[in-house]
Amino acid sequence: MRALKGKRAVIVGGGSGGIIAANLLAEDGMDVTLVTDNQYHFFQPANLFIAFRGDPAEKYTRNVSELLNPKVRLRVERAKRVDLGNRTIFTESGIKIDYDYLVVAAGARLDYDSLPGLRETREMYGDYYSTPQSAAKVWETVKGLQVGKFVIAVPDLIIKCPPAPHKGTFLAASYFKREGRSVEVELLYPSPHIYTEAELAKTVEEKMRTFGNITFRTSFMIDSIDVEKKTVISMSGEEVKYDAIVSIPFHKGPDIEFEPSNVKDDDSFIKVDKNKLNIIGYDDSYAIGDCTNAPTSKTGVAAHLGAFTVWKRINGENAKYSGRTNCPMITEDEAIFVISDYEHKPVRQRFSKLKRLMEDIFVAMYFPSLRYPKRFEPIFDAYFKATEPEVLGERGW
Ligand SMILES: Cc1cc2nc3c(=O)[nH]c(=O)nc-3n(C[C@H](O)[C@H](O)[C@H](O)COP(=O)(O)OP(=O)(O)OC[C@H]3O[C@@H](n4cnc5c(N)ncnc54)[C@H](O)[C@@H]3O)c2cc1C
Repeated sequence: MRALKGKRAVIVGGGSGGIIAANLLAEDGMDVTLVTDNQYHFFQPANLFIAFRGDPAEKYTRNVSELLNPKVRLRVERAKRVDLGNRTIFTESGIKIDYDYLVVAAGARLDYDSLPGLRETREMYGDYYSTPQSAAKVWETVKGLQVGKFVIAVPDLIIKCPPAPHKGTFLAASYFKREGRSVEVELLYPSPHIYTEAELAKTVEEKMRTFGNITFRTSFMIDSIDVEKKTVISMSGEEVKYDAIVSIPFHKGPDIEFEPSNVKDDDSFIKVDKNKLNIIGYDDSYAIGDCTNAPTSKTGVAAHLGAFTVWKRINGENAKYSGRTNCPMITEDEAIFVISDYEHKPVRQRFSKLKRLMEDIFVAMYFPSLRYPKRFEPIFDAYFKATEPEVLGERGW
């Protein structure tokens, strides 16, 4: 263990990864400053419960200060520039903060301008990736649709929680069924299978067919959305009409300037060593969670495990992040977990009610586990170990 007392750590981003990293480092006696551009932290998976169940956003929103160890210094403002060589960050208002260790956890930036029609349809029907307000707009859309076709469009696969488009499909279909409405839910998906991994796709496809009101198109590469004609047009010229549409936006890395600039890739994701999570070329600066180019899914679990890896590395341990993810794909009363790591593709799964219950338990533990990450670690650790892809193996779960 290194002597960290009094050393300065700056964390950029008050989301899942940043809050956990700040709390862990503060407990070591470090002088921790968290710079975040939003005083609130919203539990993003709950967008689905707002969009398709009408849950209130307040239930899933907390003031960042409530989630932090009181020793963490909170600065609510945007980080504008990071000078890695001089170990300094500059905020938008011009404040300069020096650090001994840096952890960037600034999440992904959503891009609505790379596809014609994306921004307009978001304004008309909402979306469940950006804000709880926009998710509430989806709920208005869903409630207002009596007959016709509700489309969920996926233009790109580098997205947070890759099963979230499927979750939206299942939850929307359940709602329309329950209400006895003649609304078809169609998922437009760019990969050749209805999930990126072929075996898991079979399970998902089977489940979709049991609904009776879900259809899907695969290898559907979206070219544009014609808002006037209410039509999605694919790159091969296929046209799909909709009555309402919700699209998943493109994802990019955060809007922060770096010195040197080549630590960001073409989509602005921060280049990291995929196991050590240090920013390439720097051993005192790290990036975790959605803002990195680590070749794993963008999930809260990756951000959580990334925070622990970085905390241990700053403490002098040779900890490595395995690429482990764990993202639930839920229907109203069942779920599977998409579980993979760098060495293993997603393991086979069966939908079950127990997994759906486990998801509700994870949701209930979310905020306390950010505030007290060490206390919750034995629970998560036992779960992650028991469900390692290597342990589940070919049998799956
Ligand atoms: C619909 C949906 C469903 C999901 N479901 C699941 C799920 O079931 N399981 C799961 O594991 N994951 C899920 N996720 C993904 C999960 O929410 C994210 O992967 C996770 O929040 C990433 O954490 P993070 O800390 O990297 O980024 P975030 O939690 O996004 O936090 C980034 C923070 O940085 C701040 N920030 C950005 N730029 C700056 C800047 N320049 N200066 C200062 N602050 C800045 C932001 O305001 C934000 O507070 C889901 C996501 C969505 C959208």
